[in-house]
Amino acid sequence: MNDSNKLNDRVAIVTGGAGGIGKEICKCLIAEGAKVIMADLLEPPDIATISETHPEAGELTYFKLDVTDEKSWQDLYKYVDKQFKRLDILVNNAGIYLLKDIEETTLSDWQHVMNVNATGVFIGTKLALPLMRSTGSGSIINISSTSGITGSPFEVAYTASKGAVRLFTKSAALHSAKDNIRINSVHPATTDTSMVDVIWESSPTIRQTVTDNVPLGRLAEPSEIAKTVVFLASDDSSYMTGSELIVDGGMTAI
Ligand code: NAD
Repeated sequence: MNDSNKLNDRVAIVTGGAGGIGKEICKCLIAEGAKVIMADLLEPPDIATISETHPEAGELTYFKLDVTDEKSWQDLYKYVDKQFKRLDILVNNAGIYLLKDIEETTLSDWQHVMNVNATGVFIGTKLALPLMRSTGSGSIINISSTSGITGSPFEVAYTASKGAVRLFTKSAALHSAKDNIRINSVHPATTDTSMVDVIWESSPTIRQTVTDNVPLGRLAEPSEIAKTVVFLASDDSSYMTGSELIVDGGMTAI
């Protein structure tokens, strides 16, 4: 264990930790000394290799979680309390994407996207507060999107769910500030993971068009999102709460 690590011995949950961005968040938190619980519907086949990347750093365990299910969250927090006796960091990163406009979106589509992307963040945050309060501090990072800031005709349920995460974060941050629990949101633009394959499959030229529209001229790498999460998780951001950190290569500056 390196004394200069920013997150030595802190306990962190990363939902959707087996996905493209989530896995990088797990790796970056471990590299800073955190004990990380990767919480996801699916266990990735390469979980053993993730902590081996940083053998001197923190540790990684997997817990099966469905973020839409309150009982599943309760089981996770019971496990964390019993195993670690504390929770310092929660990254609400699990999410699903839907490329449909308002007229294509069924009620069931809408409810599913809202359940995973917005209700999942609500349940996880609400149930984390007592555990964090018991140790006197905490940092919750909610992964929204630039689609939570600007509208899109092609992703009506997704933008609504990510917009909900943005303002939920601010309301929960105001409630929790008195307990020294900081809650912030992160807003990535298009990031190179399998979540957005459905966009690339929709047209042969769309990937180039999306890339050309980014002022920095490229898509985000998952590690570039993960590094901002480490910043918000650590004491480097100790005076930040209720904030939205936009990581978009300049997209929303246009
Ligand atoms: P991904 O599809 O690679 O990973 C998402 C993960 O969430 C998967 O491992 C999946 O199993 C998990 N998951 C889905 N439903 C779940 C549930 N009910 N319970 C628990 N886990 C569940 O996607 P990603 O690109 O890594 O996205 C991570 C987050 O970043 C999402 O919230 C997404 O909306 C957001 N985001 C992604 C992009 C992008 O372009 N990739 C841009 C902005 C924001």
